[in-house]
Amino acid sequence: MLHKVLEIRNLSNTTYALRIERKKVSFKAGQCFNLGLKNSGVNREYSIYSGENDSCLEFLVKEIKEGIVSSSLRQVTLGEEINLHGPYGSFVIDPVQIKQVKFYFICTGTGIAPFHSFIRSHPNLDYQIINGIRFLNERYDYDEYHPLKITTCISREKWAGFHGRLTNYLPEIPIDTKSIFYICGNQKMIQEAYVILRKKKVSGNHIFTEAFF
Ligand SMILES: Cc1cc2nc3c(=O)[nH]c(=O)nc-3n(C[C@H](O)[C@H](O)[C@H](O)COP(=O)(O)OP(=O)(O)OC[C@H]3O[C@@H](n4cnc5c(N)ncnc54)[C@H](O)[C@@H]3O)c2cc1C
Repeated sequence: MLHKVLEIRNLSNTTYALRIERKKVSFKAGQCFNLGLKNSGVNREYSIYSGENDSCLEFLVKEIKEGIVSSSLRQVTLGEEINLHGPYGSFVIDPVQIKQVKFYFICTGTGIAPFHSFIRSHPNLDYQIINGIRFLNERYDYDEYHPLKITTCISREKWAGFHGRLTNYLPEIPIDTKSIFYICGNQKMIQEAYVILRKKKVSGNHIFTEAFF
């Protein structure tokens, strides 16, 4: 299906939010779509960033140097149509659990996208985000999260908060094993975070993962 581009918000020199018209598309927070230029025949998966009740669809995209789709989508002009297929995937929240448990959202970089979608869609969610980034300017749309519900771990520059990777931070904190854990981002971080949680006696049934690359 073709959808018009409504806005591109540049959030850093590598990352942007791509907003397109919604039409009648329905999805569950946390699912992903395939996006690509019209008639290019090439597309990639992107997690939904906007909420289930938002009037537009938005995606948080990191432009990969020499990457085909992530760089070409940044160059589109407003009003241009792009290809969208989906939604796909089961990285979603069980509605029954929303009122019953606390959720930990563990992510690196643009891996925060599905969690932004969860939080916009379910305002009463009891959540704690642990976000691993390299530089302070990678805290995208930071104001949209409750300040006490997001912990940032910054690995490549010193700042007032935790300096290091989220996989250095995670072993240090107390974990309630009744919570549900969602992990999203690069595979290496996901594997390391999974092992840390299992060592802390979190059941494998309480851990859900989505690897971007
Ligand atoms: C389920 C799923 C959801 C995804 N959601 C998002 C999302 O919300 N936002 C987003 O930015 N990306 C997301 N991705 C990654 C995205 O699909 C593309 O892989 C990425 O944009 C690169 O595509 P490209 O055509 O620009 O690069 P290509 O021409 O395909 O080259 C890709 C190269 O870059 C590497 N690469 C891919 N992603 C990254 C990255 N983030 N950092 C460093 N290297 C990388 C690949 O391993 C490969 O070597 C998701 C992937 C999956 C599987």
